[in-house]
Amino acid sequence: MPNPLYDTLFAPGRDSDGAFLIDAKGEVLRYRDFHALAARQANVLVAAGLRAGDRLAVQVEKTPQALALYAACVMAGIVLLPLNTAYTLTELDYFIGDSGARGVICSPGIEVDLKQRCGADVMVLTLDGDGRGSLSDAADGQSGIFAVAEREESDLAALLYTSGTTGRSKGAMLTHLNLLSNARTLAELWRFGSRDVLLHALPIFHTHGLFVACNVTLMAQASMIFLPKFDLPAMLRLLPDASVLMGVPTFYTRLLGDDRFNRDLVAHMRLFVSGSAPLLAETHVEFEARTGHRILERYGMTETNMSVSNPYEGERRAGTVGFPLPDVDLLITDPETGTVLPVGETGMIEVRGPNVFKGYWGMPEKTKAELRDNGFFITGDIGRIDPGGYVQIVGRAKDLIISGGLNIYPREIEMLLDEQPGVLESAVVGVPHPDFGEAVLAFLVPRPGATLDLSAITRTAADNLARFKQPRELIVIEELPRNTMGKVQKAALREACQNRYT
Ligand code: ATP
Ligand code: MG
Repeated sequence: MPNPLYDTLFAPGRDSDGAFLIDAKGEVLRYRDFHALAARQANVLVAAGLRAGDRLAVQVEKTPQALALYAACVMAGIVLLPLNTAYTLTELDYFIGDSGARGVICSPGIEVDLKQRCGADVMVLTLDGDGRGSLSDAADGQSGIFAVAEREESDLAALLYTSGTTGRSKGAMLTHLNLLSNARTLAELWRFGSRDVLLHALPIFHTHGLFVACNVTLMAQASMIFLPKFDLPAMLRLLPDASVLMGVPTFYTRLLGDDRFNRDLVAHMRLFVSGSAPLLAETHVEFEARTGHRILERYGMTETNMSVSNPYEGERRAGTVGFPLPDVDLLITDPETGTVLPVGETGMIEVRGPNVFKGYWGMPEKTKAELRDNGFFITGDIGRIDPGGYVQIVGRAKDLIISGGLNIYPREIEMLLDEQPGVLESAVVGVPHPDFGEAVLAFLVPRPGATLDLSAITRTAADNLARFKQPRELIVIEELPRNTMGKVQKAALREACQNRYT
């Protein structure tokens, strides 16, 4: 009986002695043991009454048992709904209600409250940061053999909520084909092989750590050093045992902030991948100077998995995310009319391919507005294609500032500010203004120990930017607000200055 994701990603490991997960102490979980663990969990879920197509919400610490739930869901045809561990009980309740989840796996301590909120129809089990809890207790008594459910490529494998950077999180419906096609394409493009060891320090409630990292590893039957989270001393200690690192840009800036991170430590490494937020061109350059490696930056989102990547061989161009994947079509369109723009112009990024999701859960209107009949998905990201064919992300359409009726892309201003002496990084936002609609505000983070010459920066801005783009104010802050994926939370900056001019 076919089950596309199971057949390709999990079945090959069923009888394999190969190492799948290695913990910080060097303890190995073999493929076959991971498979049996997932099978026992799948038996628990089915015994509790969950059936193919049901949703299972999972909000737990990162452990092998938590990852096994992904395999268990695939085996049983259950739709996995992983949730950010930072969400509060009230938020969790919203996601469970919105998705109509039939089961929840949560951290111990909230299960009683949760049961009360969800009602008797919803199964609630626990799993803690050591892999223990009522789920594991139940799994211990189950068989390690499971009759895998039949699924089609178009069936849902996961309901993955977006990060909520620009508003309320939306549930992206991802099919077996969405995940599988991307796993195949990336494993080949990035040359994954069974001898690879991926140092895994990303969360597994987000597409980057869950699908990109784990699926390419499974595709190649490779191994992962599986850390509960990013921990600098552990990273420095374990990098010598790894061949690949996948990270968000903050991983790279933190590594570069430590002198022990040097050429010798990573001379043996095969690949460094960055994504989920923009990597500063400067970080790219500094990384190469320090290590001799060029970070491979790629671009994707919850709704599309990965769509664009710098090449494995050939130039990895700083400040760009590379070329559309071989099975992805990419267009730059006029954000207002949808007309395709000529190469080189800045506009809306649209993508089409087997990686593109089926739609937003319970939001048919929004799905219709953003997923065109011809298959192109309107990403909400603004970009352009450079003369070499490399895609550059300019920013998000929702971050566009409209001041005095004129459109301003914050990225253009940030790029200038980032180059100024003593500036580590910057964020530009629009805040309400009685005359202009919105006013341009710039937040500057100084390099450690640097004092910024704000009047010099103001003069440079005046010399280089049209008047309407020049920041009204430069505000110095210690660091930019970021979420776990390293995404700058511009909404928080806007909110803090909501009434500055009104
Ligand atoms: P929401 O859609 O709820 O506002 P979100 O878009 O941040 O949240 P994700 O799907 O996790 O949620 O993130 C996808 C977004 O991350 C992309 O649309 C893009 O803006 C950004 N992104 C991902 N990779 C890169 C990259 N390499 N460079 C710049 N931006 C990136
Ligand atoms: Mg988004």
